[in-house]
Amino acid sequence: MMSGKKWVYLFNEVEQAEKYTGSWDGVRALLGGKGSGLADMTRAGVPVPPGFTVTTEACNAYLAAGQKFPAGMWEQELEALKQTEKQTGKTFGDAKRPLLVSCRSGAKFSMPGMMDTVLNIGMNDAVAQGMAELTGDERFSFDAYRRLVEMFGEVVLGIPDEKFEHPLAEYKAKMGVKSDTELTAADWKAITETFKKVVRENQGFDFPQDPYDQLRLATEAVFKSWNGKRAVDYRNAAGIAHDLGTAVNIVTMVFGNMGWNSGTGVAFTRDPSTGEKKMYGDYLLNAQGEDVVAGIRNTEKIENLGKDLPEAYKEFLEICARLERHYKEMQDVEFTIERGKLWMLQTRNGKRTAKAAVKIAVDMANEDLITKEDAILRVTPENVDTLLHPQFDAKARQKAKDEGRLYATGVNVSPGAAVGQVYFDADTAERMAKEHKQDVIMVRPFTKPDDVHGMLAAKGILTSEGGATSHAAVVARQFGVPCIVGASMVRIDLDMREMKVEDKVVREGEWISVDGTIGEVFLGQIPTSAPSLEEQTDLLTLLKWADDLCATPGIRKAPKGWPTTGLQVWANADYPKDARRARSYGAVGIGLCRTEHMFFEPERLPIVQRMILAENSADRTAALNKLLPSQRSDFEGLFEAMDGYPVIIRLIDPPLHEFLPSEETLLEEVITMRVKGETKGLAQKEKLLASVRSMHESNPMMGLRGVRLSIQMPEIVEMQVRAIFEAAANMTLKKVVVKPEVMIPLTGTVNELRWIQPRLVKIAKKVMEEKKVTFDYKFGTMIEIPRAAVTAAEIAELAEFFSFGTNDLTQMTFGYSRDDAERNFLVTYVEQGILPKNPFQTLDQAGVGRLMDMSVKDGRTTRVTLEVGICGEHGGDPASIEFCHTIGNNYVSCSPFRVPIARLSAAHSALKHKGVSIAEDK
Ligand code: PEP
Ligand code: MG
Repeated sequence: MMSGKKWVYLFNEVEQAEKYTGSWDGVRALLGGKGSGLADMTRAGVPVPPGFTVTTEACNAYLAAGQKFPAGMWEQELEALKQTEKQTGKTFGDAKRPLLVSCRSGAKFSMPGMMDTVLNIGMNDAVAQGMAELTGDERFSFDAYRRLVEMFGEVVLGIPDEKFEHPLAEYKAKMGVKSDTELTAADWKAITETFKKVVRENQGFDFPQDPYDQLRLATEAVFKSWNGKRAVDYRNAAGIAHDLGTAVNIVTMVFGNMGWNSGTGVAFTRDPSTGEKKMYGDYLLNAQGEDVVAGIRNTEKIENLGKDLPEAYKEFLEICARLERHYKEMQDVEFTIERGKLWMLQTRNGKRTAKAAVKIAVDMANEDLITKEDAILRVTPENVDTLLHPQFDAKARQKAKDEGRLYATGVNVSPGAAVGQVYFDADTAERMAKEHKQDVIMVRPFTKPDDVHGMLAAKGILTSEGGATSHAAVVARQFGVPCIVGASMVRIDLDMREMKVEDKVVREGEWISVDGTIGEVFLGQIPTSAPSLEEQTDLLTLLKWADDLCATPGIRKAPKGWPTTGLQVWANADYPKDARRARSYGAVGIGLCRTEHMFFEPERLPIVQRMILAENSADRTAALNKLLPSQRSDFEGLFEAMDGYPVIIRLIDPPLHEFLPSEETLLEEVITMRVKGETKGLAQKEKLLASVRSMHESNPMMGLRGVRLSIQMPEIVEMQVRAIFEAAANMTLKKVVVKPEVMIPLTGTVNELRWIQPRLVKIAKKVMEEKKVTFDYKFGTMIEIPRAAVTAAEIAELAEFFSFGTNDLTQMTFGYSRDDAERNFLVTYVEQGILPKNPFQTLDQAGVGRLMDMSVKDGRTTRVTLEVGICGEHGGDPASIEFCHTIGNNYVSCSPFRVPIARLSAAHSALKHKGVSIAEDK
């Protein structure tokens, strides 16, 4: 029965709204964000000016009926107004004791700028006069009246703003005044008359003197505004549904400009930039809300209100504390004091910096306002990211933009801000950093393993090619160096030692600023600030809570034998110093040590090259024997740093040509020597060139690398396994608890493992016998070739652990080159919505993820305790981490710098999927 429907709710009728809708979300949908907030505050006993809300259902019914109020709605609105009159002791339209109201839109989701507010409804000629007498302030009264005529004219009648602004400006010019505050009562009276004339001239009728007409028309205007162009555009952009409708809030007007015992202000219940537990805000005495925001007068700090209006301030503090307790969140409030009486006009969760987000969450948990779980959920991985990387000063960055210094953009692969002088090769970059103590940005078309020393010496890295899993990206992320790759608009001329974007040239030695967090390069220097984890005690506390939560048995519901705690976070680390950093950031294992990086050390590379070029096994073994002591000492350092934690060491993975000079360079050198007639060393160079040519492959990433190389040339991995086990044995003898795990890369068929693994296990056992020590160890494999994923049940017959190499697995599942795709079609694919995200950054759950899910399940049918991890770049990405949680991984492994983010993400995943069984979930 339509007429029986409740269209209007007083602020004190929120229980009825709850009963009708069945949930708080339902109340928000019915009364809108603002209306439900005002009603909720009223229920909490907070002084809110009395009023009521016309529902979103009424709006929808009005629009559906071709702009006609639904039956009974207007009558209910009038009845609610009567109740409001009772609550305030004032009467709508009564010149002696007038009730004035505001009319404000309020949809379920905030839509700023959709519809302006109309203030002072209820004013007319008689009421303005009456108000003047009542308040003894004629100026105040007519200022309020002209505001109504103006707002009503603009918002309800649709008269353009300038029709009011021009006459006002003319009037002020005529009177020789600059600011509104100089205008007198007589002035506002005259201006009100002018504004009324504007209405008549534009509309052909007079400004409505009947307050009920004003209210009805304002209500309709808010309803109609839902389908206004501005609102429709906003909803399209913000992804808000078009059928929600807006509510209309009618709120008793209170005035902060009724003398020096009145005032208005805005405040946060805690400091939004530091999180400190103290009120933070501003106010003005004898002023209206707009005056505080517009900055016409200098505002006062909120704590001074205690001196100006001690009673009201005391109540204000008490209410703010109550609001925090009620919402269990830091609040951003608006208030007005009318002749000593405090009114709260709005409260909402306050926006805050990353630092404040962490402090507030931890403090509130310590105050028992929220649980530790709530605290964990309140901080985002982006907050943690922001806290750990140097950032550009926001104002300085904007200034640089305004000055046209934004130079280029690219893929933001390693966060943080870096400022330095540009160098175009690794040796110069390293030399300038080490010898000349310069801050260096290394710029290259792309990077290779033998550029690592330059990258490590640099403050930032920029490449014009490559993507999220390119060498530059992987290394930069691992070492926490801010990095942008694939900035394809930058043309680098290595001969001229300069780079160009259009006609803007940057020469070697000139300064640039690189923002790896968002992928922007600026000309010149922008100031940065650098935080450190050790100093961030609140963050450390929060991360400890996250770890404790993840370590709770039973937090994951899983089949028997599978992990029932949450994910652990391990790190990808090649050197002992990275391992130490990883531990200090909270990693509880090394998930990937890329051993080949150690081969690039300047004193080792010649031996590696001799080993590669050896013509027989004996020569090769001799070279390898020379490498063995250095590999062993690397591993000893890793075991020592990770005392008690597992360390996964991957056997050699890349194709051998990566350790040799490029064919192009060699050819150039040989030709130059021949032309110049230089004979010394020529034969050797020619031999080297012939070897490099003989190793040439059209598709090296799919060629002789990983386990295939180990089968072709087992001596290398035999040396590596000996080095691992000798190191582990030596450290065991020194009372370090070692847990080595040997990882075989790029397995495609179990037969590869059948061939290589027993040989290696034999060496492991032999070393333990020689050294007379025993310790636990594992042999396992990377899963980075789709065939391995599909045949995981067989692979797990030999492999004791799987580690998803999702860089290669993504490359091979999509058939996209991980080194080239991002600078070619991948950006277009994401822009066009062909792919939702860059799959090298965020795991493609439907494809690559499906293979992973299958591998875990199939692998554990063969070996129920199979340890499963991920060590591709996705291991540090929050969405990918959540996916790993749901498929039953034991851990994720990422660069040491991302470990804190991953710890928080692991806890988020556990909380989000608490009670969901893994088997059901997928
Ligand atoms: C991978 O492929 O995901 C991986 C970790 O190995 P790499 O990046 O060294 O190929
Ligand atoms: Mg790989």
